[in-house]
Amino acid sequence: MSALPFLPFALPEIGEEEIAEVADALRSGWVTTGPKCKRFEADFAEFLGGPDAGGLHAIAVNSATAGLHLAAEAVGIQPGDEVITTTHTFTATAEVVRYLGADVKLVDVDPATLNIAVDEIEGAITPRTKAIIPVHYAGLAADMDAIHAIARKHGLKVIEDAAHALPTTLDGRLVGTLDSDATVFSFYANKTMTTGEGGMLVTRDAGLAARAKVMRLHGINRDAFDRFTAKVPSWYYEIVAPGFKYNLTDIAAALGIHQLKKARGFQAARQRIVQRYDEAFADLPLALPPQPKAGDTHAWHLYVVRLTDDSPLSRDGFIEQLFAAGIGASVHYIPLHLHPYWRDRYGLKPQQFPRSQLAYERTVSLPLYSKMTDAETQRVIDTVRRLLKTGA
Ligand SMILES: *Cc1c(COP(=O)(O)O)cnc(C)c1O
Repeated sequence: MSALPFLPFALPEIGEEEIAEVADALRSGWVTTGPKCKRFEADFAEFLGGPDAGGLHAIAVNSATAGLHLAAEAVGIQPGDEVITTTHTFTATAEVVRYLGADVKLVDVDPATLNIAVDEIEGAITPRTKAIIPVHYAGLAADMDAIHAIARKHGLKVIEDAAHALPTTLDGRLVGTLDSDATVFSFYANKTMTTGEGGMLVTRDAGLAARAKVMRLHGINRDAFDRFTAKVPSWYYEIVAPGFKYNLTDIAAALGIHQLKKARGFQAARQRIVQRYDEAFADLPLALPPQPKAGDTHAWHLYVVRLTDDSPLSRDGFIEQLFAAGIGASVHYIPLHLHPYWRDRYGLKPQQFPRSQLAYERTVSLPLYSKMTDAETQRVIDTVRRLLKTGA
């Protein structure tokens, strides 16, 4: 065992600004959805869209899962519908489809990017298909041009799962401003910025935004801020649907306001670590993660390597040895087709998803977070090099 402290796979970077803003929320007496949430939403729209935000609506929610559920509900997913997504994702991407009583059609991945294989989407379309939910895996943009072209041709909605993708660009445009019906970001503890738990639904569709806002809070026709702070005091509201309890607290939004200001700096710090890893690992039996197109930004939520045939260690053996050396690692993802619920509901077999399956058997996510020090980065490098050069 290592005498050094455990080096985790991910850690948030929370500064004094966040702590002061949270304290301000607590002292203000307004702890649930209120002014800080409004400010966070406005800041988020401006971050993505520039000063006039290009008609973007940013709707804060208490998780990306909630945001995906609201987006799927608002685009009209219903029992009997089908939604296409990638097998190589976290279960949240797909489970929201089941919340609405619709069914999930899983598709294999592009072997290089591990994003949804666009050449397999059309084969998964049936008369019941209503939407596609691509994931920007690890923070690298999916091929949205191809996905939007397929969606237009077949009249499908597109909801981007951008849980990994802040800030990510595609042809210079930030994810969140592309031509999808909605895009959903995650602020879970290990994501590229955090509010502890939280998420943001972004859309240009005013009708979709209005529906998501109503469904975010019990199906009430106005949100708490308007209800309690409007010039004319008003106790009146109407319930127009059996909505959900998905609003973000001002305590969490206080964190988000300052995390967002730091998001570009966090990305730069992650990218510097990625460059060091790439250089240090070039001669090892590893396939390194794909780079974005020239001029584009990769959010680098994850640094995912793949062991090649000449690796002296199996994937499981490699992770075991990393932990023995006091270094955290993970696997993104155990594909949905291997989980009992998804496998049994749809009778899925690994042979249906050969590229995702092979990636699953070979991938390891190494530690990557903005406040990793040079010494910590070097420790990961030295350990990975020792293990993959000698097998021990
Ligand atoms: C983290 C994650 C989610 C869910 O985010 P929460 O904010 O925890 O609900 C959804 N999709 C993907 C791909 C994720 O990594």
